[in-house]
Amino acid sequence: MLKNFSDIENLVIVNTCCVTKEAEIKSLRKFRQSLKRYPNSKIIATGCACRVYPEKFSAAYQVIDNVQRNSIIKGIFPDPGKARFFLKIEDGCNEKCTYCIVSKVRNKIESKTIDNIKEEIYWAISLGYKEIVLVGANIGLYGVDRGLHLIDLLQALKGIPDLPRIRLSSVEPKFIDAELIQCLKDLPVCRHFHIPIQSADDNILSRMRRGYDAAHLKRSLDLINRNFDDVAIGGDVIVGFPGEGEKEFLNTYKFIESNSFTHLHIFPYSPRPGTEAYDLGDSVVREEKRRRLWELKNLIADKNYQFRKNLLGKTFNIIVETNADIISGLTDNYIRVEVNGDYDKNTLIKIKINEVSKNKTYGSI
Ligand code: SF4
Repeated sequence: MLKNFSDIENLVIVNTCCVTKEAEIKSLRKFRQSLKRYPNSKIIATGCACRVYPEKFSAAYQVIDNVQRNSIIKGIFPDPGKARFFLKIEDGCNEKCTYCIVSKVRNKIESKTIDNIKEEIYWAISLGYKEIVLVGANIGLYGVDRGLHLIDLLQALKGIPDLPRIRLSSVEPKFIDAELIQCLKDLPVCRHFHIPIQSADDNILSRMRRGYDAAHLKRSLDLINRNFDDVAIGGDVIVGFPGEGEKEFLNTYKFIESNSFTHLHIFPYSPRPGTEAYDLGDSVVREEKRRRLWELKNLIADKNYQFRKNLLGKTFNIIVETNADIISGLTDNYIRVEVNGDYDKNTLIKIKINEVSKNKTYGSI
């Protein structure tokens, strides 16, 4: 990026997303804000929303097609001020989920080589990062373009000296099996899984073409719980998918209630032109989607509170972050803990959780 635009003094890059309607609106808003806020800069728009709706970004100095994105991203350095190093291991997904636009706009899987990933990890270690987050459009597909598997990559990380803790960004349920879990146990891996379950009703899962059912989800969760203590399990859920009536919603609600979820990202379904599900219509009205969203939000808030209360008196490592006067950090199992004291940013400190409220967790060194 820097090389391509070295003659431009003031450059603003807006990286856009269209995975949901909301993401697309936010991308467009950021783009328009950038035009206003930086009138003397050259604004470059890139990313998926530009690929699908280039006309909306026509006021940009240049719109860079999403296909060229990988070569662009290589030039962008991470911010060493951040506590976590986000390492993109692959891009693209060729699954056929009916609601998703990603497989339409980024269906070519491109994985970094294991050597390149190791190089980036050595670099992150040299910069002092204490946590590396492996990210991608669908990291379970890592390596399919190279005859490799995510497990090959994880195995290759084992020998790295001073390897910081590793967090997986999000893993599709179909990739969670005994082999993956065993491999993770041999690494300094965070006890935190984020699983995009989307629903726990078999009919809805089939209409979404997710390739698993509720029984599979249950087996995956049990496997994780058997192998990791105090593990945080997050999930993505879509409410109001076409055909989701009260019965189907309750199946999802009860599944979440009876399993050890600790965090949820809940999205009201929005039909995306160009997806297969678009033709199914939008049968659930907005108010009903909001009701379901809030029911799940309240449920997960209670479950998260309970989860944190069970951790009282236990010790964890956090990576110090500072924000105004507050010093806080994330535990490996994804609890943000606030602590009193004077600690350097990006240091790893051991804390004990000694107070938990509905929204906050406090600890001491
Ligand atoms: S697996 Fe995820 S990224 Fe891939 S098509 Fe399905 S929802 Fe989209």
